[in-house]
Amino acid sequence: MPELTMNKESRLTTVLCDLCGTDEQDLLFVKEGFRHVRCRNCGMVFVNPRLKGHVEVQKITGTGAMGEDRLTSAHIRRIKKELEGMESFRKLNRILEVGAGKGWFLLEASKDGWETWAIEINSIAVQELKAKGLAQVIVQPAESFEAPNNFFDVARAWDVIEHLESPRKAIANIHRALRPGGLLRLSTTNFASLSHWVNGPEWVYFNGADHIHLFEPSTMTRLLEAYGFCKIRIRTKSFNLRRKLYYPEHDLPTGLNILVPFRKLIDETIRFTLYGHQMIVTAKKGHR
Ligand SMILES: [Zn+2]
Repeated sequence: MPELTMNKESRLTTVLCDLCGTDEQDLLFVKEGFRHVRCRNCGMVFVNPRLKGHVEVQKITGTGAMGEDRLTSAHIRRIKKELEGMESFRKLNRILEVGAGKGWFLLEASKDGWETWAIEINSIAVQELKAKGLAQVIVQPAESFEAPNNFFDVARAWDVIEHLESPRKAIANIHRALRPGGLLRLSTTNFASLSHWVNGPEWVYFNGADHIHLFEPSTMTRLLEAYGFCKIRIRTKSFNLRRKLYYPEHDLPTGLNILVPFRKLIDETIRFTLYGHQMIVTAKKGHR
């Protein structure tokens, strides 16, 4: 189908490394036509070339509106615990969520008396946020949203940075908007995880149309340090055997099969290492 091939080619764009701006990379693997590469200079892993117009896609069909329609009590407990950890940062009483999605986190924060602000571009998510009474929604991309300098005590970005065209610009922008001493808390997929190592390129989280920047603890640290964050803490959790969403474990190829009885045990213990596939990061804006 030459026509289809031509269409896809015209929708692709070649990019420099977002972290260091250089153009030399080594190919790691190709999945569903998307080349996953590692920057020779800084080690950043990203999709190159990638689809054009990520921002436009996310406005309409992006993952911003994904997530639960209602929360379980366990999920609410987790959010409350996360908010407790933010309490000591409360001075200006303003909290920002970049990629707020359906607004569950900000809703709990508002119940705690925080003045909540959301950055969100997905039109369905924006409606959901407003329906929950979360009025302060900035409908602009993470890379270029306009908010006053030194305005927020806390900024949160949950499973967002891997979708962004420029994590560097987003982190610089968040840093600017945080007050000195303010807290950044984010999560993203850990490329240097056991889940990746065991499942290989077929691992469910590798989705080159959508997950275009794949961080590891080393590249995350490099990015945050470059923009003046300090007290960077990285922990990881979670292990799975999933090649596709809802992939049944009994369909796993021999070799991976033998890990099935140990999956839960590994999942419970991997949080003591840096090899879990969910990376949870906290950092503070320095006082300089
Ligand atoms: Zn680089």
